[in-house]
Amino acid sequence: MSIYEDTFFMIYCCVLAGVFGAVLGSFLNCAAWRIAHGESFVKGRSHCTSCGHVLGFLDLIPVFSWIFLGGKCRYCKTKISSRYMLTELFFALVSVLTLLRFDLSPEFVRNMVLACCLFCLSLVDLEIFEIPNGCVLIPVLAWFAAIPFVGMSGMDVLYHVLSGVGYGAVLLALVLLFDKILGKESMGGGDLKLFVVMGLYLGVAASLFALFFSCILGLITGLVQKRGKEGNGPQIPFGPAIALAFYAMLLYGDGLVNWYMGLL
Ligand SMILES: [Zn+2]
Repeated sequence: MSIYEDTFFMIYCCVLAGVFGAVLGSFLNCAAWRIAHGESFVKGRSHCTSCGHVLGFLDLIPVFSWIFLGGKCRYCKTKISSRYMLTELFFALVSVLTLLRFDLSPEFVRNMVLACCLFCLSLVDLEIFEIPNGCVLIPVLAWFAAIPFVGMSGMDVLYHVLSGVGYGAVLLALVLLFDKILGKESMGGGDLKLFVVMGLYLGVAASLFALFFSCILGLITGLVQKRGKEGNGPQIPFGPAIALAFYAMLLYGDGLVNWYMGLL
């Protein structure tokens, strides 16, 4: 059943997707924090990162808990970063946009799995400048698992697999070349793996746009960071920039690619 059959049903589905997205975002935030701080994310209850108090149900409602508690821990009154609330809102928005773009389809499910992984790896990358392997591996598995359900032809599958592999190979060659010229690491291995996933999902043409946009985003982030902190050459987490450009192209890239192809 399509969400576009009935306006009321569409609004209902969007609200549901928004709530679901905020809850998922909250969970992923917590998972990312635990990965970044080397804690197991399946064991143990959620706790305040400052006083360690185990959080109750009322402390764990996405977005609302943060607002009602005035951005403070209920127990020790330590300020809680608005990052949690903002990222939960952001992921709620991503979920709604994904639903509107892909309707209730197997593609929606597959792309939500991808969105979760991109969101999580971005948060981890921002904190410890590393992209967890699991966040790259799961989208690849999801892509292959979804093949029978998303109506791809054998040629489509081949094109996307070759795009992913080709992308990885070309970028690896470029990175090795730059590393040699610059005499230092120019791009992390995690970023490289992420580009392979991007090629797999988007194909060659849309990936080129995503690469271009992620470079611009990365550059802006770098400039903003440099203004914030003087000296000691800050490390730029490139993961979030790639993730954002990647997902934006997945949602709205078709039109852009078709327009560009029309120009040629
Ligand atoms: Zn506390």
